Amino acid sequence: MNLFRVRGIQLAVHFSFFLLLAVNAFDGWADGGWPGLWWNSALLLSFFGCVVLHELGHCFTAMHYGITVPRILLLPIGGMAEFDGIPREPRRELLITIAGPGVNFVLAGLLWLVLPAELSPAVETSAADVPTLLETAGLLMQWNVAMGLFNLLPAVPMDGGRILRALLATRLSYLRATFWAVTTGKILCVAGAAIALFYQPLLAALFTFIFVVGEMEYRAARRRELEDAHFRAVLARLHAASVATPTEEPPLLVG
Ligand SMILES: [Zn+2]
Repeated sequence: MNLFRVRGIQLAVHFSFFLLLAVNAFDGWADGGWPGLWWNSALLLSFFGCVVLHELGHCFTAMHYGITVPRILLLPIGGMAEFDGIPREPRRELLITIAGPGVNFVLAGLLWLVLPAELSPAVETSAADVPTLLETAGLLMQWNVAMGLFNLLPAVPMDGGRILRALLATRLSYLRATFWAVTTGKILCVAGAAIALFYQPLLAALFTFIFVVGEMEYRAARRRELEDAHFRAVLARLHAASVATPTEEPPLLVG
């Protein structure tokens, strides 16, 4: 479902997002009646507000480099910005990628500056009750730090994986760099999923998802590389043919 546009970028939500919103609202209602329902919903929406700001960090940096960003899609597991093309230039990819977690750390820093220092321990103790506005801001600060750090996990398609790829691409070919960044991510995902299975099955599912998307991204990069090689070969053949054909000027007749 399309919501609104920011600088030409369409913000859209997947229908499963509403399912999450409903389950979360019901949880709040079961815990604390109507106030619980409203607070739970407000918390979730502000959390996803930070997700949107994270994505906008990527998008605005990409737009600075002339990349078109048609859409940001919100899913229950987070946000996804759709770019018309990811630059093959490592420096640009690095900056576009860092901008997302960078927004989270800036938000956390700003909240840290404005919040009173004694707030942090109180956030833990009053979790059962409906939180106050200040406590909500404290939670948002913690979430932004967690979101920034989790996204820096070096596993493609997470931001950390793309940063690793961009760094490797300064030394290796783009495809090799993608291969090693994806492989690193897969190893982390297998280890993470194995550990998370005992504590947090949802997290294990997320690691599995990252593993699969990482593999898809590597395959897409390999396919593009093959297409590019084919295109270059065709161009080379055409060039060779054009060199071999005689010029179109009429031959000079000497007689
Ligand atoms: Zn990101």
